[in-house]
Amino acid sequence: MTVLSFYGAAGCVTGACMLLESSKSRVLVECGMFQGTKTLKQLNYGAFPFDAASLDAVLLTHAHIDHSGQLPKLRLAGFMGPVFATEGTRDLCEVLLPDAGSIQEIEVSQLNRRNRRRAGADLTPIFTSADARDTLAQFQTVHLKEWVSVARGVRARWWNSGHILGAASIEVELEDDANEAPLRLCFSGDVGPGDRDLADDPDGPSDIDHLILESTYGGTERKEFDTATRRRILRDELRTAHAAGGPLLIPAFAVERTQELLVDLLALMESTEAPPGQIFLDSPLAIKATDVFLRSGHRDSGHNPFKGLRESRLLRFTESAAESREIERQRGWHVIIAASGMCDAGRVRSHLRRLLPREDATVLIVGYQAFGTLGRLLLEGRRDVRIQGDEIAVRASIREIDVYSGHADASGLARWVQARTPISGTVFLNHGEPDSLTALRARLAADGLPADRITIAALDQSYRLERNAPVILAATTTPRLTPEALTHLDWHNQRASFLAAMQEKLNRAPDDKSRERLLKLLDEALAKM
Ligand SMILES: [Zn+2]
Repeated sequence: MTVLSFYGAAGCVTGACMLLESSKSRVLVECGMFQGTKTLKQLNYGAFPFDAASLDAVLLTHAHIDHSGQLPKLRLAGFMGPVFATEGTRDLCEVLLPDAGSIQEIEVSQLNRRNRRRAGADLTPIFTSADARDTLAQFQTVHLKEWVSVARGVRARWWNSGHILGAASIEVELEDDANEAPLRLCFSGDVGPGDRDLADDPDGPSDIDHLILESTYGGTERKEFDTATRRRILRDELRTAHAAGGPLLIPAFAVERTQELLVDLLALMESTEAPPGQIFLDSPLAIKATDVFLRSGHRDSGHNPFKGLRESRLLRFTESAAESREIERQRGWHVIIAASGMCDAGRVRSHLRRLLPREDATVLIVGYQAFGTLGRLLLEGRRDVRIQGDEIAVRASIREIDVYSGHADASGLARWVQARTPISGTVFLNHGEPDSLTALRARLAADGLPADRITIAALDQSYRLERNAPVILAATTTPRLTPEALTHLDWHNQRASFLAAMQEKLNRAPDDKSRERLLKLLDEALAKM
């Protein structure tokens, strides 16, 4: 009997983790961290709902933390076996996992300082950067399109998925009963949009029994951008920001989008299509990730589009804190790229403190901004924001472009699924918010996949895999979170949103009298509770 269980990214987009069990072996696919609301993040602190020590191997699609971030915790829970991944994924994990460990250490030490003041108990980090480095020794790299025996009766092969450097879909063949032909599965991982000059098109096997498919943008159609259009949009933003007279600040994620953005910025400035100026990459993590792109960012053709990044005189890498502070002295037109991408941590915050009050400065948002983050508040047009406890007035121009995505949209996913057919068994939909999951299910059914063979995976649910037949649910245990709790905004989010709305009301009030009246009303409401 073969059983597939979903222990994350089921009904939500983070915490990817699936367990594949046969009579011969136990293999985990992905081991990601939950991100988003505190309720979700709490799952990172709990024990795994399976025995980590008894796993034979882990298969990894790509390096993003929501797919790889709990690997060090898996090691601490007793898993000492191999982690199979492409070289690009291993190289990026070498940068991202220790960084996730340091963030853990810093967060926990801050919490403990606060807890001690309240005489609370000390917490320990889920894992440290040293734990993360130990985990890297378990990695075994694989080549695309080559079968690897990963456990008894299980072989796997990785196909480029066009999402980020090293990202792949994983095809798995699994023998259970010696008399039968092996069961053929495909785990999509995150699927890229294709038609990009900086990444190869997503690929994959065809003729399989079951497909496990990501659904991040399963309900969304996006405009397709070729390189020329993407650069034209960026060029216009650069010209406008330059004309405003001050610097341009771009909050960015450390991996992939930053490197693509740098390639485009340099191409535009070096050809003087956009006004040339100094570009500062002000993020130690992004600098390390950029080195990985220089080493292993090659496309199938052997060409590495990131090659020029270390040679350009326009680009400066500011690794140390002192170098970072020096950027403040820069006058005239320049561009700063700093993490974090959603403006909630990292060096971008000190640049925002300094530049938001300046009318001549521009902030360009290039990535997804989650609910409640500072980046989202800026996009919503807030004229006052809080940064590190201080009230900061927003006079800079806030701009947004949506041309740097690593994900296929609904049509892209549907096309990718078509190329995997025939699929004799079930398509499991995971890694999506509820709306995207139901939209993608409807879309695939309309495209001709039998509706009763499309299953939306549920958290902590196990499915018995049979050939050519719809899957049968195995006995269920109580899930750690209900589907509602997975996407519910918890009270921490409600509080943040309430405080922001109150601040906005106070700012917009015509005079101090009305502000006092508003606060008095709130006071009275509180007293009545
Ligand atoms: Zn990803």
